[in-house]
Amino acid sequence: VKILMSLGTCGLAAGGSKVVDAIEETMASQNLGDKYEAVPVGCMGLCYCEPTIELRDNSGKSIIYGDVTAEQIPAILKAGMSGAPAGTTVVERTWYYPEDEANTHKALQARIALRNTGCINPELIEDYIRQDGYQALGKVLSGMKPAEVSQLVLEANLRGRGGAGFPTGKKWQFAAAQPKGKKYMICNADEGDPGAFMDRAVLEGDPHSVLEAMTIGGYAIGSDIGIIYIRAEYPLAITRLRIAIDQAHEMGFLGKNILNSGFDFDIELKYGAGAFVCGEETALIHSVEGRRGEPTFKPPFPAVQGLWKHPTVVNNVETYANVAAIIRKGAAWFRTVGTAGSPGTKVFALAGKVNHVGLVEVPMGTTLRDIIFSLGGGISKGRAFKAVQTGGPSGGCITTKNLDTPIDYETLKAIGSMMGSGGMIVMDEDDCMVNIARFFLEFTCDESCGKCTPCRIGNRRLYEMLTDICHGKGTPQTLVELRNLALVIKDTALCGLGQTSPNPVLSTLTNFADEYEAHVNEKR
Ligand code: SF4
Repeated sequence: VKILMSLGTCGLAAGGSKVVDAIEETMASQNLGDKYEAVPVGCMGLCYCEPTIELRDNSGKSIIYGDVTAEQIPAILKAGMSGAPAGTTVVERTWYYPEDEANTHKALQARIALRNTGCINPELIEDYIRQDGYQALGKVLSGMKPAEVSQLVLEANLRGRGGAGFPTGKKWQFAAAQPKGKKYMICNADEGDPGAFMDRAVLEGDPHSVLEAMTIGGYAIGSDIGIIYIRAEYPLAITRLRIAIDQAHEMGFLGKNILNSGFDFDIELKYGAGAFVCGEETALIHSVEGRRGEPTFKPPFPAVQGLWKHPTVVNNVETYANVAAIIRKGAAWFRTVGTAGSPGTKVFALAGKVNHVGLVEVPMGTTLRDIIFSLGGGISKGRAFKAVQTGGPSGGCITTKNLDTPIDYETLKAIGSMMGSGGMIVMDEDDCMVNIARFFLEFTCDESCGKCTPCRIGNRRLYEMLTDICHGKGTPQTLVELRNLALVIKDTALCGLGQTSPNPVLSTLTNFADEYEAHVNEKR
């Protein structure tokens, strides 16, 4: 029986190391080494009930325990697979693995990007290989032409999970079509949205999936170098990536003449210094070059002229985490999950006023109601749902009337928000939506790079107006000016950060006009 011990940043922060010590002590003192194998794994997505462990036997039967204490461990190990001891908390599994044909019972979650996260030891390449790891790379290098690889990813219609939803295969084709020479594959691991931690979980729990995908992408576009741009605030992810890169070198999956194919590819890490705008691809490229992290106007697009003016593909962590499964199982398989226009799944970091804060991966087309009320366990403290913010600080607030909308890139846009990278913050009846808009605007003002006037000054002015309104100093005219300025910023800011920053203001003005009016009337 395997004891999977959730040791991502969330598990460690909740005291997972004490549980690990108790497991090791119990196994040693009771000679349980023959019966159990303790395996440290990444986040299982159950952040609300960390520390978490899972007992899983060879037949696939499993018991997941949440809120585990060191004191409970002797009883849990004594009971084994026979059942949960009294006083422990058993957590229902709400996910299945679309790749595993024997396991097609439909649960709300379908794990493709997170297929190994929480299941394997991220510091052991052998564990990844046992889960079909590096088979996709083998398949590509042993029988596929570079153009066939991009075409397959295009046919799967894997869209960029960083938020823009651009077809990944098309991006690869653009870069591949550029004249031969230096080209770069970049992984954007500069996850900066407040409340978002999807990419961190993948890197901490399954780093090889990203390395394998970048290598496959490198082959497809004719690049010999990949760069992972990762936040310096993710020390555990960095450690695990470094271990994974070393192991991939030792096993011949990275470096010169990979798998004796004649293809060379290597991966380096670059640390981001915590600037939100560096998640924008042109700013990210400047930062890698050692310049100020400021966006530039596109075109030229990075796939044509990117890092050091060479063709460069920038994909985010979650996008890469889907690639190996697509190569192994095919484009048609991938399109069986999700919606026609947005195949596959999306990982969301569910946070805010919800009972089950954590990571969920759902097929595109799942409703917000299923995510918040079924997977999220509903609103905390029995309060009523008010709104959910998707798309990070520059997304929009979605209300009850759209809870049953099946969400994908297009539907979220149609209801005034956006996919973004996958942050999802739930608000309850006690939250003041004007104050929420102000909170997100404050974040944007702090993170604006200052290069263009609409974003640098316009957002500051929006923030000031929102502060006035919150403090009872607004007038009906302030509301008119607020909307007008928000629309101007949206139209005239240089990059995505500024163009989307007024979204929280505009969506709350539309959906919660009564709260703005109440503030304005307060003072009279
Ligand atoms: Fe910088 Fe904001 Fe302009 Fe983007 S929109 S370039 S973040 S000032």
